[in-house]
Amino acid sequence: MIKIKTLEEIELMRESALIVSKTLGEIAKAIKPGVTSLELDKLAETCIRDHGAIPGFLGLYDFPNTLCMSPNSQVVHGIPNSTPLENGDIISIDCGALKNGFYGDHAYTFAVGEIDKETEKLLQVTKESLYVGIKEFKANNRVGDVGYAIQKYCEDHGYGVVRELVGHGLGSTMHEDPEMPNYGKRGRGKKFVDGMVVAIEPMINMGTQRIKQHKDGWTITTKDNKPSAHFEHDVALVNGKPELLSTFAYIYEALGIKSNEEDPFREKPLVL
Ligand code: MG
Ligand code: MG
Repeated sequence: MIKIKTLEEIELMRESALIVSKTLGEIAKAIKPGVTSLELDKLAETCIRDHGAIPGFLGLYDFPNTLCMSPNSQVVHGIPNSTPLENGDIISIDCGALKNGFYGDHAYTFAVGEIDKETEKLLQVTKESLYVGIKEFKANNRVGDVGYAIQKYCEDHGYGVVRELVGHGLGSTMHEDPEMPNYGKRGRGKKFVDGMVVAIEPMINMGTQRIKQHKDGWTITTKDNKPSAHFEHDVALVNGKPELLSTFAYIYEALGIKSNEEDPFREKPLVL
């Protein structure tokens, strides 16, 4: 059952989403060769708690940490560890926070130092596909329209679109209806109406779409061990249009990147 949110609830969800955004901004400042994912995990937990929230993933389905940290060929759900990151790595970092009874949940794939052009392209296309999908989250469209758009965009670039893991509705629980696959057919699935809040999150592989699960019960990697990227935003449907609740602006501020990619999806300018 899809839980429709009031405008007041959407504002609370924006607060939770922005705590995650700020946390990912702190990560962006700290990420460099030599840092371990466990150190970044502790940093994130402190940042979330400093904002009066609690880590959304810690203990959820018994996940042991604050962040899901998935380097290189890991797709999602990687567990932080004490292996130092190396120049040329990429790492997908997914973060959740719970405040006022509502979750924020989004993700960004970071480059560690200098990465090769081919991998840089994967990150760029995956992030672009996120906005291609968000654009389709509008009144009278359906779940399949978002999935179709993301799938087409990524497959046209020759990439593999993961099938087994999907985006989701978001609210007072981390995973609500509807499921939001990154593949699909136009005009299929649940219809979008005002008050829906979803996490749209393409998980895109450089090579095969196929994945495997590790013995730890969590980590998912690509079957061919080629790199995978993951970008996620929280989006509400307001007045028939997609309204971004999360932002990558804190990450861009930390990394010195200029971008207006979020502007079409924000009613009011974001004040950092
Ligand atoms: Mg997430
Ligand atoms: Mg999610």
